[in-house]
Amino acid sequence: MLKAIGYAAQTAQTPLAPFAFERREPGPHDVQIEILYCGVCHSDLHTARNEWQNTVFPTVPGHEIIGRVIKVGEHVKNFKVGEMAGVGCLVDSCQHCPSCAEDLEQYCENGFTGTYNAEDKHSGGVTYGGYANNIVVNQKFVLHISDKLDPASAAPLLCAGITTYSPLRHWNVSKGHKVGIVGLGGLGHMGVKIAHAMGAHVVLFTTSPDKKQDALRLGADEVVISKDEQQMAEHANSFDFILNTVAAPHNLDNFLNLLKRDGTMTLVGAPAESHPSPNVFNLIMKRRTLAGSLIGGIKETQEMLDFCAEHGITSDIELIPIQDINLAYERMLKSDVKYRFVIDMASLTKEQSAA
Ligand code: NAP
Ligand code: ZN
Repeated sequence: MLKAIGYAAQTAQTPLAPFAFERREPGPHDVQIEILYCGVCHSDLHTARNEWQNTVFPTVPGHEIIGRVIKVGEHVKNFKVGEMAGVGCLVDSCQHCPSCAEDLEQYCENGFTGTYNAEDKHSGGVTYGGYANNIVVNQKFVLHISDKLDPASAAPLLCAGITTYSPLRHWNVSKGHKVGIVGLGGLGHMGVKIAHAMGAHVVLFTTSPDKKQDALRLGADEVVISKDEQQMAEHANSFDFILNTVAAPHNLDNFLNLLKRDGTMTLVGAPAESHPSPNVFNLIMKRRTLAGSLIGGIKETQEMLDFCAEHGITSDIELIPIQDINLAYERMLKSDVKYRFVIDMASLTKEQSAA
């Protein structure tokens, strides 16, 4: 077995702390990656605190992983030792159901294997994520990272990037569309950048007035303070598409009212407690759609990474040592993230020398 060290939550109430564990040795189809950077997603916090009530402890979160390939199995042809590689939210799926056949492994009908907190088919235990020094992943779930992308600020593309890119693509966002992005956090700021690059007229909705200038710099054409009823009313019935990234329950009608006839609002935020049900008339009177979307498949994740390399898009990050992860979680809860924390895994060497 391969020795690994990372940070884990031992219970929902305890802070993350150093944790030594083992991974499988790379098999013939596996890629072993030395992790250099890992983004901090709000889903990591939901999991570490068991907010979705499905966490198996101890848990090592992290699914925005970038690192260097240090070993490949004999059947691995597409990755070479020394190259930069990425791992997102998925590390396995059945590969034969209709969804997998359409490159939509995130909707695998037999259940995909998440990068952390999922049943590990190899060990019989649970998968451990990227808040660690290494990871071993089947080559089908490893992504190529262009040299054009700065590796630390590209890490969040692996979840925040694909989770926003996929619905924007699926609902055909393009030039001339009026698109709303709700929430300027990790997902939201990627949504702003990507929708802008797709040519849309982007309106950012925020509860934090102090984020206005940043939103405009990131690519929003307009910023609306969502608590201001007057500002909201000015946009009634005008949006083609709204992407809602908010991590807390809130009144969806405030945003559904802003959709045109036949407009769609897609939820990607996954709060522990669901939103109150919207008013049915807000949907039926204008044939509006309320939808949801889960990350993206591997093929589309590579497409998104290539799109971002081509358009010079990465995340705006705050690089932190892993020892600051608990503080980062507290700041994330206060919407005080500009706009994604990324862990510099070099900071783990302190723990390694202590182990
Ligand atoms: P984040 O960085 O914490 O950003 C969430 C943003 O939502 C905040 O910055 C804030 O923006 C807004 N917000 C927070 N609390 C709010 C409240 N009470 N009312 C209104 N707005 C509020 O989180 P993230 O990493 O982007 O993740 C967002 C959500 O998406 C999480 O629930 C996460 O689990 C989920 N997620 C889903 C998928 C998927 O595949 N569907 C993938 C990844 C993550 P403002 O300050 O601008 O208002
Ligand atoms: Zn995530």
